[in-house]
Amino acid sequence: MSSPDPALLSINAATVRAQWSLPDIISGLTRHGIRGIAPWRDQVAAAGLDNTARRIRDAGLVVTGLCRGGMFPAPDREGRRAAHDDNRRAVDEAVTLGAQCLVLVAGGLPKDRAGRVVSRDLAGAREMVRDGLGQLHEYAHGAGMRLAIEPLHPMYAADRACVNTLAQANALCDELAPDGADGLGVAVDVYHVWWDPDLRAQIAYAGERNRLYAYHICDWLVPTRDLLNDRGMMGDGVIDLPLIRSWMDAAGYRGMHEVEIFSAENWWKRDGDDVLSTCRRRHADAS
Ligand code: ZN
Repeated sequence: MSSPDPALLSINAATVRAQWSLPDIISGLTRHGIRGIAPWRDQVAAAGLDNTARRIRDAGLVVTGLCRGGMFPAPDREGRRAAHDDNRRAVDEAVTLGAQCLVLVAGGLPKDRAGRVVSRDLAGAREMVRDGLGQLHEYAHGAGMRLAIEPLHPMYAADRACVNTLAQANALCDELAPDGADGLGVAVDVYHVWWDPDLRAQIAYAGERNRLYAYHICDWLVPTRDLLNDRGMMGDGVIDLPLIRSWMDAAGYRGMHEVEIFSAENWWKRDGDDVLSTCRRRHADAS
């Protein structure tokens, strides 16, 4: 399999968040000739929305996604309303940044204000996701911003996302806005879906409906020492990245390859320039 086009490399700003502020990350990407970025809302807030938008424009970066909205389930109407209001702000921020999509993490079981899970009704949580997503899609569609549902590995079903497979994300799109041209689609993050025996078919299904909005890459380490913050650099783990990329290509995905690595004990401890040059090399050699 041939190497991917280096121009398709994008960096999720979480990958060097421990080392650098968002303005520093933008400068770093320019220094390394990297053309895409996906910032997080807290980083954008810290640097200022308009300031960030201007820096990104001046640097000529493509914003492959804004992370993130979602977190729809809540124990009461007031909580769901608050989530909706926050999600509308996220859509507005994504518009200001010129993002290709707002990435959505569904949310898990409803939690109280102290963050304690207060329900065992997983099916009910999934209904709240569908309802909240439908409502947000109406707003985002009006604002011209695409929403990308990112299924998360089932180990996060309780606390982060009860949308756990690409099939589930596809079913939500089928129900709410079947043609991806209408602004509802999916983000395929290999960390979350690499294990799924149905992955190839679901990528193809999403591609036929124009809903492949984003592709996130990293690797799955064996052993994984922390479920959230021990993602591997491409080539250091067990995911067949060239194979999954070939499925994305075959399904018609022409977007960027966004490196997203949360790594408290390894990559977050290294020099930011070393991390970016490693991302460049591994994107070429191991993705
Ligand atoms: Zn992701």
